[in-house]
Amino acid sequence: MSNKVIDLRSDTVTKPSKGMMEAMFAAPVGDDVFGEDPTVNALEEKTARMFGHEAGLFCPSGTMTNQIAIQVHTSPGDEVICHSSSHVYNYEGGGIARNAAASTKLVHNDGATMSVAEVKALVNEDFDWLANTSLVVAEDTSNRGGGKCYNTEELEALSRFCKDSNLSFHLDGARVMNAIVEKNHDVLAYGNLFDSISICLSKGLGTPVGSVLIGPKNFIKEARRVRKVMGGGMRQAGILAAAGIYALDQNVSRLTDDHDRAKELAQALNRASQVVHAIPPETNILLFDLQSKEAKEAALLNLEKEGLRAVSFGPARIRMVTHLDITDQDIDESKRIISKVLD
Ligand SMILES: *Cc1c(COP(=O)(O)O)cnc(C)c1O
Repeated sequence: MSNKVIDLRSDTVTKPSKGMMEAMFAAPVGDDVFGEDPTVNALEEKTARMFGHEAGLFCPSGTMTNQIAIQVHTSPGDEVICHSSSHVYNYEGGGIARNAAASTKLVHNDGATMSVAEVKALVNEDFDWLANTSLVVAEDTSNRGGGKCYNTEELEALSRFCKDSNLSFHLDGARVMNAIVEKNHDVLAYGNLFDSISICLSKGLGTPVGSVLIGPKNFIKEARRVRKVMGGGMRQAGILAAAGIYALDQNVSRLTDDHDRAKELAQALNRASQVVHAIPPETNILLFDLQSKEAKEAALLNLEKEGLRAVSFGPARIRMVTHLDITDQDIDESKRIISKVLD
């Protein structure tokens, strides 16, 4: 047995590669609060241009880019429509209420995506006793949905509906590059569907830190002010932004390897007798259910003992995520451990 721990808990566990660190060391930097960091400016422009947006804003985390977007798109007392499984609702510390003083209406369904009919049913009429619905947030790929992607047609329909209804449409694109390579989206056409997009560089793209928020110039101007208020104004942040530029150049097309490896792991899980159901992975997130909470806890412990780390993701559910630091050899070893522990 090898001594290497295979860490499938999240795609956030990657360490910067040698090439990435060299890019970071070589980055020209300046004070970004003064707008003087050439590498941050280059990353913001590059990301915005990729998606056909006017401007970008580099932030420490995807939580911050989402929270800033929600604050800029809403006024206090407004209502935000999102999926009940969404990150902005579940995993950002109640930030919609805390930061934006807005409330939420949730789409509930077994999937992770929202249809126009589901969103439309939650939009308030224009009465002064009802909260003003001002924002819809979609997540692509969906984390709790097991890396599920929207179809182009679904997003086009949501985008059209939001435009016609005078609602802002924000994308939590923490793993948007996974969606883009998997669905082979035209990136400019895709970008055009949203008023703003939050893109994580520290997930599948493998940087140590950072997310970029993109949108129209006037939106990003206000977002810069909110970032400062939230304590996200960084100084010589070009060292971090350089990793982002490197990641966008080097680590996007290879995401399909992660998707293939997740599918391979799913096959091994489906063969294991303790696994009740593995949700077929579309991208790099793999969710599967065991018989019970006890079975799940035992499985996590025994997988870990064999050198395979995963996380609990529900009462009887486990999540595994493939990423940049996982090789084909690691997948072979993972399959061996899965059949040993879960069969
Ligand atoms: C990881 C993640 C974020 C942002 O998380 P940070 O850890 O704050 O960067 C946002 N949305 C989704 C769906 C995520 O998975």
